[in-house]
Amino acid sequence: MTTVRVWGSRGSIAASGAQTIRYGGNTSCVELRTDDGSVIVLDAGTGMRELGAQLALEGVREVHVLLSHLHLDHLQGLAFFAPLYDADTTIHLYGPPSPLQSLSERISAYMSDPLFPVHLAHVPSDLQMHDAPYESMAIGSATVLACPLAHRGPTVGWRIEDAGRSLVYMPDHEPAMVTRLETADPSWVSGAGLAHEADVLLHDAQYTEEEYPSHRGWGHSSIAHVVQFARLAAVRRLVLFHHDPSHSDAELDWVHARAVELWGAGEDAPLIAHDGMAFELAALGARRTATPA
Ligand SMILES: [Zn+2]
Ligand SMILES: [Zn+2]
Repeated sequence: MTTVRVWGSRGSIAASGAQTIRYGGNTSCVELRTDDGSVIVLDAGTGMRELGAQLALEGVREVHVLLSHLHLDHLQGLAFFAPLYDADTTIHLYGPPSPLQSLSERISAYMSDPLFPVHLAHVPSDLQMHDAPYESMAIGSATVLACPLAHRGPTVGWRIEDAGRSLVYMPDHEPAMVTRLETADPSWVSGAGLAHEADVLLHDAQYTEEEYPSHRGWGHSSIAHVVQFARLAAVRRLVLFHHDPSHSDAELDWVHARAVELWGAGEDAPLIAHDGMAFELAALGARRTATPA
């Protein structure tokens, strides 16, 4: 059994307050427990703080953190992740490769004076840095694979296969930046290969169709683009993710309704992520099977 829990579903910056109570305000962080109990964490946004407290409580000693990229909304929680300060814990950090600086140098730009009092090099846990794998590799019972995505700066999407099901994670992605999704051949669309026939796709849904034109090139998608992308990648279940910090609960209800309108309101209708959302991968990505006669 593969379980997934969303600890932060917001994008750009944490957005707490009366307008965001239902969907939550923590930035991107998703926990996946594989069939053999391995702990995989997708991104280190502010939702990671609460996840760290939970893992410390459970005494988890090994964590695999898969970073999509190093924008602060995907990294800020790392410094407040309790297992980072536990000498008995091994943390594997995977991030997009850069020809200019190592992963630890780039993360240290945040985790060092004057932005943070503890330097990354001085944390007590056994911290191991890895480039995101562009060929499949195993983590426990799962197989994971990364692929570069159209965003701002080095960015990857992640595909995790476990117990016969797949989850694809693309929190910041603008496939429409260079391609007309309505007419594109999927083989030329950013991320479409990685997402192909995914059981569940967590995808950037930052802008409404009205907001997108004034944000073209910022690295994010409109609701229409997300739905088009999921369709052309033949995804089974789309989950809207990385909500704009300015979108209130009421506006996110509208965003969700618009995605359902565009996709169709069947049993495979799109869902929208919220902080605290939890599901079994097999249940959410249930494949349609032929009904016995
Ligand atoms: Zn982001
Ligand atoms: Zn970003």
